Amino acid sequence: MSSPKEPNAEFTESLQKEHGGETLMLCFQCGTCTGSCPSGRMTSFRTRKLIRKAQLGLKDDVLKSPDLWMCTTCYSCMERCPRGVEIVDIITLLRNKAVKEGIMSDEHRKVGQYLLANGATIPLNPKYEEFREKLGLSRRPANTLGDKKALEDFQKVLKATGFDKLIGGA
Ligand code: SF4
Ligand code: SF4
Repeated sequence: MSSPKEPNAEFTESLQKEHGGETLMLCFQCGTCTGSCPSGRMTSFRTRKLIRKAQLGLKDDVLKSPDLWMCTTCYSCMERCPRGVEIVDIITLLRNKAVKEGIMSDEHRKVGQYLLANGATIPLNPKYEEFREKLGLSRRPANTLGDKKALEDFQKVLKATGFDKLIGGA
């Protein structure tokens, strides 16, 4: 594998050919995204820096960086970027590439595994079930959370797309 600091022009070019990546080179490093990022206020993640590394084609540096998983996809940066850089799409693109190379944050992997096992990323706890009942609804909705067949169908789709392998099984 190349050095994390070694520019990889092919990587930059491949990003530019994919959705969102067409805007990558429009970034002129103003830092508005970093200043808008709620995640960056709590962590060492700097959006501008990640975009710059992608522009330079620092493939290994970007794909292996824990920063790649700090974005909550809140879109604050994208709404404010003066150059119309599709920042969130670029981060998604980078994450997809990382996952294909077997790199994923433990937290994202666990959410994926939970989704595969339960058909949702957020559990329906008894409190919500009671609330639904009070509203005259069934305790569980007629979707993957309350319908075994819907869950099985959903799991079939995830397996057919290879999602289960990407996240390392349920
Ligand atoms: S706000 Fe846009 S132009 Fe400015 S650093 Fe971020 S991505 Fe680049
Ligand atoms: S979308 Fe991600 S990078 Fe942009 S401001 Fe929100 S958390 Fe930060």
